[in-house]
Amino acid sequence: MREIGHFIGGKQLQGTSGRHGDVFDPNTGEVQAKVAFAKRSEVEHAIAVAETAQPAWAAVNPQRRARVLMKFLDLVQKEFDTLARLLSSEHGKTFADSKGDIQRGLEVVEFACGIPHLLKGEFTEGAGPNIDLFSLRQPLGVVAGITPFNFPAMIPMWKFAPALACGNAFILKPSERDPSVPMRLAELLVEAGLPAGVLNVINGDKEAVDSLLTDPRIQAVGFVGSSAIAEYVYATAAANGKRAQCFGGAKNQMIIMPDADMDQAVDALIGAGYGSAGERCMAVSVAVPVGKKTADVLLEKLVPRVENLKIGPSTDPQADFGPLITRAHLDKVKSYVDLGVKEGAKLLVDGRNFKMQGYENGNFMGGCLFDHVTPDMRIYKEEIFGPVLAVVRAKDYAEAVRLPSEHEYGNGVAIFTRDGDAARDFVNRVEVGMVGVNFAIPVPLSYYTFGGWKRSGFGDLNQHGPDAVRFYTRTKTVTARWPSGVKEGAEFVIPTMK
Ligand code: NAD
Repeated sequence: MREIGHFIGGKQLQGTSGRHGDVFDPNTGEVQAKVAFAKRSEVEHAIAVAETAQPAWAAVNPQRRARVLMKFLDLVQKEFDTLARLLSSEHGKTFADSKGDIQRGLEVVEFACGIPHLLKGEFTEGAGPNIDLFSLRQPLGVVAGITPFNFPAMIPMWKFAPALACGNAFILKPSERDPSVPMRLAELLVEAGLPAGVLNVINGDKEAVDSLLTDPRIQAVGFVGSSAIAEYVYATAAANGKRAQCFGGAKNQMIIMPDADMDQAVDALIGAGYGSAGERCMAVSVAVPVGKKTADVLLEKLVPRVENLKIGPSTDPQADFGPLITRAHLDKVKSYVDLGVKEGAKLLVDGRNFKMQGYENGNFMGGCLFDHVTPDMRIYKEEIFGPVLAVVRAKDYAEAVRLPSEHEYGNGVAIFTRDGDAARDFVNRVEVGMVGVNFAIPVPLSYYTFGGWKRSGFGDLNQHGPDAVRFYTRTKTVTARWPSGVKEGAEFVIPTMK
């Protein structure tokens, strides 16, 4: 059985805790590898290694740091397909979707390659007599990233690329369910010229996370995962004096106005609702048609599309989506469908009994579609994270704005309409962090920032874009005077600008 350990000081190390987790093949349900779960002393060792390596890395000039990332881009490109296959084999998403996962990560690495420009501070010449005022952005030291299973390439890259570019050392704690791609990315960084010890990967569970959260040498923590854990990580990191940004779960809605292009809306819904088996934080899980006629037309077109979704193993190039991550998650998603039926929603398409021929023990289920879901139901309130779409019928536009705005999550939302006034009003008023107009999955590009509102995000700064540079650096502001022989004598009053 393949064993996955840790990556510390530029090399793979076996775990020594005696604890490990199973890494499954979601297509077959079989265990394909064992991943080590780090104990506190192993995490402490990784932090010590990172702390030793960080000052020299921070002293490398930004352009050279960027060159390491450029070389990394090159190396990932060279083994793109191999990495995508590895990703699919542990996650279960299709090969094409795994390539998208890697590509969206690389785009943030590309952004981070602009670090010489991004790190430029401010300068005011002559802010006072012989006084210049300027600001510097300096790295924090050793920082940590804790990432989820659903984007095992993209989210680690969102975290480590800007952090490293800013001159920090990094400890990555990837998801224990699909750790192989992050481990390989760490090796490629070293191959690209990153000094050993600047990036370390610790595998594990709560013990590893808690060790990072309570160690005083960790200056900042970036987390992505479910909201309950995000909130816990945020509170614990803050209580331990760390900077933290923690991104959580979602329940993203797509509003369909009566004037929308229905075919375009249905295409968008089917991809955003069921792609990656709904295991995306930006998946659309609630469709909100406005008015009865809109709902009826939408469902007439949508039902056959959901019934005809092509489910297959992650290796099938024709599949729309593959299996779910684990048997336990599959059971949870199916139990939500049972719950929806009990709550009184109308199950128009039932994918619970889908069996994948030849892969009977894989974590497969078909697409499910509910109509007449109401805001008091748990299937509306809670994140299901599976191929289950709920239709909530809104009687008018005002209700359609209210629904996502009043939901406890606020990650993404979309409106489909041809009416520019309505779209503009919606963008302005809706209480959600990322908004799409005729665009179902509005994940901003790398040079903008990514982050949800309300229980989808804890902390002040977003991921990637300019916020990433702010998060991974601290500002130092310098007031410098070169008096050239002018003597003013002692001054007992606070200096002011008269
Ligand atoms: P998860 O919360 O189970 O795990 C995330 C990370 O936290 C993993 O590294 C895991 O090992 C660790 N962890 C789990 N339990 C812990 C505990 N008790 N104490 C400390 N650490 C713990 O999330 P997941 O199932 O891997 O990922 C899916 C979730 O992530 C969904 O809710 C999804 O919406 C969310 N997500 C959010 C975003 C975003 O940017 N908002 C992006 C992707 C995924």
